Amino acid sequence: APIVELAAVSKRYRGADDPRPALDDVDLTIHRGEIFGVIGESGAGKSTLLQVLSGLVVPDAGRVTVAGRDVGALGRRGLRELRRDIGVVFQGIHLLSSRTVRDNVRLALQLSPRSERPSRAAQAPAVDEMLEFVGLGHRGGHYPAQLSGGERQRVGLARALVARPALLLCDEPTSSLDTTTTADVLRVLARARDELGSTVIVITHDLDVVKALCDRAALLERGAVRELFTVARSDYRS
Ligand code: ADP
Ligand code: ADP
Repeated sequence: APIVELAAVSKRYRGADDPRPALDDVDLTIHRGEIFGVIGESGAGKSTLLQVLSGLVVPDAGRVTVAGRDVGALGRRGLRELRRDIGVVFQGIHLLSSRTVRDNVRLALQLSPRSERPSRAAQAPAVDEMLEFVGLGHRGGHYPAQLSGGERQRVGLARALVARPALLLCDEPTSSLDTTTTADVLRVLARARDELGSTVIVITHDLDVVKALCDRAALLERGAVRELFTVARSDYRS
């Protein structure tokens, strides 16, 4: 079964200045192992689309299925279980400035449910392995202020990936980065798919990111999927 399915999903925010819906009758299927891009102008509904997947925004109509769960039918406990399958990276990720890189990532593990959490002894190796994975094995003892923007973004990725989520949601993960550091972040996202088996959904305004990274992409316009692209990827990994 697809990992994400939206069927006739609509959302209008109450009290919004703009009377138009943020999502307007969206049908969308995303398959396991895809890297899926979401593009569109500011206000097109991209963030709302991501937020309905984790149950943070409740649609007015339609059906949202994520990893086999009917999101609209979930209670508090079900939503908590859903969210452990989803890793999230936002633009301007917030790291705890008084904690080391290693502690920032370890905290994400400690917040995961007791039943799935690695034992205390296994947490440190899991954190170090994930820092290696994002290319920051040498930075574990540093504090966020000592890192570059691209490195901080990769700490955010390590934090999102350390519990091995089936689905990774990224909102403009490269928006404040230069070309080199953007490539570093994209490489991590591609490896998350290839080596950790995550499905990745990435909001971006950068068509080069879509071309380099995504398998398919949707163009949103005023809350509707205007076009669905299959990307002929120009593989930056070579
Ligand atoms: P995008 O991520 O593409 O910029 P959003 O999903 O953030 O689009 O927003 C879609 C529309 O919904 C916009 O008109 C925005 O102003 C509106 N909107 C988003 N979030 C809220 C909210 N919490 N309350 C009211 N309106 C909102
Ligand atoms: P972006 O478009 O970069 O995703 P936005 O600036 O549109 O971010 O939105 C940032 C946050 O503010 C989101 O959580 C969104 O839901 C919320 N938001 C956006 N538009 C509105 C609005 N008109 N009223 C209230 N909250 C909003």
